[in-house]
Amino acid sequence: MKCMRCGNDIFESTTSEAIEMDFGLLVIRNIPCYKCEKCDEIFYTGDVVLKLEEITEKVKQLEQEVTIIDYQKAA
Ligand SMILES: [Zn+2]
Repeated sequence: MKCMRCGNDIFESTTSEAIEMDFGLLVIRNIPCYKCEKCDEIFYTGDVVLKLEEITEKVKQLEQEVTIIDYQKAA
């Protein structure tokens, strides 16, 4: 796979994502991703995107001000 931004090689990595919601902040850690070694652009596979949406939906129902979730434990 190549970087969609600069065309360089991308490699498997993990990252964290902070998502602003209406009532608070959701932080998801240890998300599996692909990262470009040149421009640091991050790509997720389709499975991961779906899982992130699922986690976000679940957390919305908790209505906590700040939620920190480990992707590996939520998956
Ligand atoms: Zn790149």
